[in-house]
Amino acid sequence: MKRLDVVVPVFNEEACLPALIARLDNVRASLVGRYDLHVIFVNDGSTDRSEELLHTACDERPHVATIHFSRNFGHQIAVTAGLDHTSADVVAILDADLQDPPELIPAMLDRVEEGFDVVYGKRRSRRGESPFKLLTAKAFYVLIGVVTRVDIPTDTGDFWLVTRRVCVALQQMPERHRFIRGMVPWVGFRASPFLYDRDARFAGETKYPLRKMFHFALEAIFSFSRVPLVVSSVLGIGMMLFAAFGTAAIAYLHFVAGEQVPGVTLAILTSVMLGGMQLLMLGITAEYIGRIFEEVKRRPLYIVSHVENVDGRPHQA
Ligand code: UDP
Ligand code: MG
Repeated sequence: MKRLDVVVPVFNEEACLPALIARLDNVRASLVGRYDLHVIFVNDGSTDRSEELLHTACDERPHVATIHFSRNFGHQIAVTAGLDHTSADVVAILDADLQDPPELIPAMLDRVEEGFDVVYGKRRSRRGESPFKLLTAKAFYVLIGVVTRVDIPTDTGDFWLVTRRVCVALQQMPERHRFIRGMVPWVGFRASPFLYDRDARFAGETKYPLRKMFHFALEAIFSFSRVPLVVSSVLGIGMMLFAAFGTAAIAYLHFVAGEQVPGVTLAILTSVMLGGMQLLMLGITAEYIGRIFEEVKRRPLYIVSHVENVDGRPHQA
């Protein structure tokens, strides 16, 4: 029988965990004979009762494992840890808040058996999201589409099924700044969208407030695109042409037409504008340098405090 590991990042999800575990039990039962379903929870430094609930779940079920982090490392890192600890034939990634129904996994497995290496959940609709969240999500995908060359599918979350070889490829990508939705398409192989209706969060609050969403969008842009760097050169060239033209015009007015050109206003305006632009471009460059700095430190992506029911050693990129 083939093995299916379901990776679930968990950050303060005490309200969702009991229902999630029960529903995953049902999915496991429905797959008997086809796939041996195991669950790998990654407890991303939860401060509520999640740790306790996961401990009980691991005690009662040999097919449930948990990796406990020493602190909160973030959603993408938590998913990464799960992927590092699996050697299953197929790996599913699922949020803990039941927005992505685990019952869809068997149907998604059918796609894998048809020969797809990546099956990604694509939201036909999203329930229980504010218009603001919908709008920002849309804007996010438009922006990503414009600035990146990797084809990142729109309206996807982090609800994926990938085969072993995709998982191995992801394990070989050691970058600190991780945007998994972009990394999976980068790996390649045949991918198939799986349309579904996204439920509202089962309980609790979103762990992605606006601040984190903004950060996430920046992560996506700077990790997957060099367009901001190109923008700076294009603007720079534009400004140079503009300045050259302006100088020529002033020279003409002064020497040929013999006019008095009031220079002060113009000079102040130009210096302010140039100063602003230089700061902006420095900022953009600094983003990349900051990232290089983070990468060259070569710190581990996460620190594990302890594991439960985890067999084998993790892959270390
Ligand atoms: N999560 C995590 N670490 C974090 C934030 C979130 O592991 O720092 C988990 C969270 O428990 C959930 C998933 O990532 O399983 C997605 O988070 P959430 O549902 O809050 O995001 P949203 O669906 O609102 O974008
Ligand atoms: Mg959610």
